[in-house]
Amino acid sequence: MIDTLREFVDRDVLPNVAEFELVDAYPEAMVDQLRAFGLFGATIGEGHGGLGLDASTYARVIEELSRGWMSLAGVINSHLICAQLIERFGTDEQRAAWLPSMASGELRGCFSLSEPDSGSDAAALRCRAKKDGDELVINGTKMWVTNGERAGIVALLARTSDDAISCFLVDKQPGPEGDGGISISRHIDKLGYRGLETVEMSYADHRLSADSLLGGEEGLGQGFRWALSALELGRINVAARGVGVAQAAFDAAMAYAQERETFGRPIAQHQAIGFKLAEMATKLHAARLMVTDAARRVDAGERADVEAGMAKLFASETAAELALESMRIHGGNGFTTEYPVERLYRDAPLMIIGEGTSEIQKMVISRALLARAKE
Ligand SMILES: Cc1cc2nc3c(=O)[nH]c(=O)nc-3n(C[C@H](O)[C@H](O)[C@H](O)COP(=O)(O)OP(=O)(O)OC[C@H]3O[C@@H](n4cnc5c(N)ncnc54)[C@H](O)[C@@H]3O)c2cc1C
Repeated sequence: MIDTLREFVDRDVLPNVAEFELVDAYPEAMVDQLRAFGLFGATIGEGHGGLGLDASTYARVIEELSRGWMSLAGVINSHLICAQLIERFGTDEQRAAWLPSMASGELRGCFSLSEPDSGSDAAALRCRAKKDGDELVINGTKMWVTNGERAGIVALLARTSDDAISCFLVDKQPGPEGDGGISISRHIDKLGYRGLETVEMSYADHRLSADSLLGGEEGLGQGFRWALSALELGRINVAARGVGVAQAAFDAAMAYAQERETFGRPIAQHQAIGFKLAEMATKLHAARLMVTDAARRVDAGERADVEAGMAKLFASETAAELALESMRIHGGNGFTTEYPVERLYRDAPLMIIGEGTSEIQKMVISRALLARAKE
């Protein structure tokens, strides 16, 4: 499977990515190919029509896609966070209603936790779900909803009381009366991670039926805890993206350093550049091993909070560092759109920010270390 993806990336993604990325165009044909590979069902169980990949294989899929173009990993990731919430915490009816069409890619999902005033401090979210008879009425603004426009279902975190947050499955497919009270209030123009949409979504008296509550009545007040646990796999995925981008930056640097000559020899023969390549390769190798280790722990059913946080912290910082080092090795050419490095340099910082910034990872790691020490 990874070999097939590698061929797809080399043949269809790398030669074409600049054409879509710079103009921020959605890569329909590439996404169709992801669908044909079954990747919209990558981590969804086989019983629901998915591939049922384990965390280790999924991490390698994400790494390979990100070596080609990090945005392709983004197309499937928030979809699969939404699917994972349904599969792990949904009722039988919710699983049967949503998962098969999500696994085939016919229905797209997204994950909506962040708001304009709450990102790292996600529990401070303000979006409200108020009961009104048998229905719920949603009001609030959600920020940074990746895949939000194309998604037909949103895993939405909203406050059901002052001290409780619940997760709702919002059917965004237009009904006979249109989209109800949901609107895309802003398209966010981004430095990198282009080609797929990240939007602000507003809810104004949007009505949901009672069965939209994830997990049914038992899910009331559980949403935040569930979302955090889904983000553990999300962190391994972001770390794997970091490895993919770092690999692409390294590959570009290796090729260029052997080709470009100064002072009568390829720049790779200058010790300063050779040392850079050695350090880049070492960090890349370490990042990959950390992702592999965290994913294996998840697959073995072991606790992986510290390891997933460490992998995310190290791999994302490595991606940003290697993108800059690769740009240095490319000299002036690295600063042009003729070479892929400038895109990697623009894409890499997202991994430092998304699904918990590096500062938040350090908090997660240190808290978990202290908890383990106490145990
Ligand atoms: C392109 C993109 C796509 C995204 N997609 C999604 C999505 O699909 N769904 C979704 O729900 N969210 C999404 N996000 C949101 C993302 O998860 C948040 O941006 C991220 O968690 C950081 O939150 P923030 O932007 O509010 O930064 P803030 O929380 O305002 O942080 C600002 C700075 O303060 C630091 N900081 C904050 N608190 C502390 C602390 N206690 N100690 C030390 N430092 C601290 C942070 O590390 C950071 O450096 C996306 C973001 C981006 C940029």
